[in-house]
Amino acid sequence: MTTLAADPLFAEAEVPANDSQTKQVLLLKPRGFCAGVVRAVDIVKIALDTFGAPIYVRKEIVHNSYVVDDLRQKGAIFVNELDEVPEGQRVIYSAHGVSPAVRDRAKERGLKVIDATCPLVTKVHVEAIKFAKQGYSLVLVGHRDHEEVEGTQGEAPDVTQVVSTVEEVEALVVPDPDKVAYLTQTTLSLDEAKYMIDALKRKFPNIVGPHAQDICYATENRQTAVKNVAHNADVVLVVGSRNSSNSNRLVEVSLNLGTKSYLIDKAEDIQPEWLESASRVAVTAGASAPEVLVQEVVAYLQARGFGSANEVEVMPENVRFGLPPEIVQAIASAPRPTV
Ligand code: SF4
Repeated sequence: MTTLAADPLFAEAEVPANDSQTKQVLLLKPRGFCAGVVRAVDIVKIALDTFGAPIYVRKEIVHNSYVVDDLRQKGAIFVNELDEVPEGQRVIYSAHGVSPAVRDRAKERGLKVIDATCPLVTKVHVEAIKFAKQGYSLVLVGHRDHEEVEGTQGEAPDVTQVVSTVEEVEALVVPDPDKVAYLTQTTLSLDEAKYMIDALKRKFPNIVGPHAQDICYATENRQTAVKNVAHNADVVLVVGSRNSSNSNRLVEVSLNLGTKSYLIDKAEDIQPEWLESASRVAVTAGASAPEVLVQEVVAYLQARGFGSANEVEVMPENVRFGLPPEIVQAIASAPRPTV
């Protein structure tokens, strides 16, 4: 058992008592699908139902291989770039958003676009446009190979620099150090983002940022749940795919608290030696991992002597996003079943 103290901010969630003879699963809540992922997956499903296959999707609709494979079987065709979509066809943008250059290319090719960009990613795009119009140099804190960062940077490419380390912050050169604004990727670690923003404030004391943090509610809530429970667990298993940013961050949060943690796509990825001396295993899931995979992990653990699975709800979460107008119109104009 790890001995690090709980963060006092989060010391109130009730973790079931354990006599250390009984092996337990602590099922963290909130976990798994966020509102942006639910919306994006619904958009693809509704588009397939309404317009029929094939429906093209630029990039993985969300970063989870199970979800992508399921939609592929239903008729979605995933492409890396719009040039792979036949002219005039229907294409869906992923939850991570696209740059204006991609939107322009879709127009040139006469594609019918359905935009599944998460509204919380769009919020960051709008901030980028606003700061750029006001003459700021922009610093975007994030991982430069991530699609979301490519899309946000594309809103103001001439004035945006991406940083992911403090060394990169220190090396920044801008035309006017008193006219700098920062934004962040939505799925960063809260602690890492704070560290980076502190470094930016040291480098540019007059730097400005967004009114509300760019890290989204789902990223924050899932990290808070791990922070709350990791000290009570021997191992934290995070269900999520390798390319899922927020899932990787959950592993890091646990490791930073001194609790072993592993990222798994599915139950079969669990290595038995991870559990050898564990009596409590916490299970969570990144924002793009479906609940069915979590339940398979719980079943795997229970089949190996972890008798009870106790849900530990750290905070309630009840966020929903509306569908984009293209989908709302499609639903409205679909033929009604006759009775
Ligand atoms: S993780 Fe956050 S930003 Fe990304 S899709 Fe979910 S709610 Fe939107």
